Amino acid sequence: MARFRMYPTPAQAEQMLTHCAHARYVWNLAVEQHAHWKPGRKGAPGFAEQCRQLTEARRENEWLGAGNADVQQQALKDFAKAKNAKFTSGFGEPTWRRKFRHEGFRVIGTDRVPEYNADGSPKLNAKTDKQVMGRSVVVQKLNRRWAQVKVPGCGWVRFRLSAQGKGAKPPDAKTFRVTYRHGQWHIAFAVIPAPIPAPSTGEVIGIDRGVTITAALSDGRTLNCPQLTVRERAQISKHQRRAARARKNSPQKAAGYAKVARLKAREANRRKDWCEKISTMLARTYGLVRFEKLNIKNMTRSARGSVEQPGRHVAQKAGLNRGILAQGWGLLRRRTGDKAPGRVEDVPAPYTSLRCSACGWIEKSSRKSQAEFECVSCGFTCNADTNAAVNVAAGQGGIPRPRRAAGAGGVTAATGRSSAREPQPAWVGIPLF
Ligand SMILES: [Zn+2]
Repeated sequence: MARFRMYPTPAQAEQMLTHCAHARYVWNLAVEQHAHWKPGRKGAPGFAEQCRQLTEARRENEWLGAGNADVQQQALKDFAKAKNAKFTSGFGEPTWRRKFRHEGFRVIGTDRVPEYNADGSPKLNAKTDKQVMGRSVVVQKLNRRWAQVKVPGCGWVRFRLSAQGKGAKPPDAKTFRVTYRHGQWHIAFAVIPAPIPAPSTGEVIGIDRGVTITAALSDGRTLNCPQLTVRERAQISKHQRRAARARKNSPQKAAGYAKVARLKAREANRRKDWCEKISTMLARTYGLVRFEKLNIKNMTRSARGSVEQPGRHVAQKAGLNRGILAQGWGLLRRRTGDKAPGRVEDVPAPYTSLRCSACGWIEKSSRKSQAEFECVSCGFTCNADTNAAVNVAAGQGGIPRPRRAAGAGGVTAATGRSSAREPQPAWVGIPLF
């Protein structure tokens, strides 16, 4: 996917907000139709049937008919896709879209281009033997930095060609999606980037992800995901405090929360940018990239507990969860996999942080502190995260849980949840520096 910031004129922005509203309305209608379904009832209408119903609805409702038919139909298409992918996408059943939160719409290209098969021969219709014509988005490059795209009802809308080399072409895509969040417009083209070819060295790298150091590499390098600065964090709490104290429904309250949202969006943007750069670097420099296998969903589970059995250290755990999610672990793994298909492996994580990378001895007391590792067996000293990364690079750590009966002294048996855990810092959460 290629995403760029869009700069519409005020008139264009107004028209695009109308598109967003119509797309959301149609999507929510589809959600409602499918939510109505129960076992025993006739099936909810599919895409083709919904399109017929949309045509009818457009005829009956003047305001809907005044909107763009393509935008509304694409909302149905998006819904059908989301519905089909509900088991594989990770998002589950498609749900309601809300005003201000889910502002966006999809546009299908209006240009017609001949389609080709994988071997380069023109794609022909099986029945009529005619050339199949596919859709393509109409994009014009203005100069090195700017391009424009045709949006229905708005004419040419400009967007900035960020993060592209000199002479780079705007992407060829069949559709694009326009989104509006935190007062900014973005355009995302639906394209799958070409995989980055592997270097000839075939070098293997292991990556250990953590909260203190985002990614420790097995060659000793440490990479850190950019966070908000102390000043920006202070600004967030200031605006949050002011907004909380402002009168209900006042413009001050809305403006305060908008400022908070913009600062948080800045953090997310930095994290995404960092993940893109690092994943490209990994795919370009190493033949095989090994990540330790993490279940981030389980790791960030809340400690809240139930009403009868309230959990302990709930706020602390919430802080740690925020710290984990602020590292972009999942995104880094996914984007590396996208850019280097078949060259990324997941190594099971247990004991990667407790195993000595020099002699293979596993002992809890080898890990002196968060940063220090000193093997009690051979005396090898190393940064604890680098040591773990070397284990990951070697594909080690994924050995079965050592049993007490196995004999060899010095192996820490997993007696309870806390016995073989990494040493935890006294205070965990978003780092202060
Ligand atoms: Zn050792």
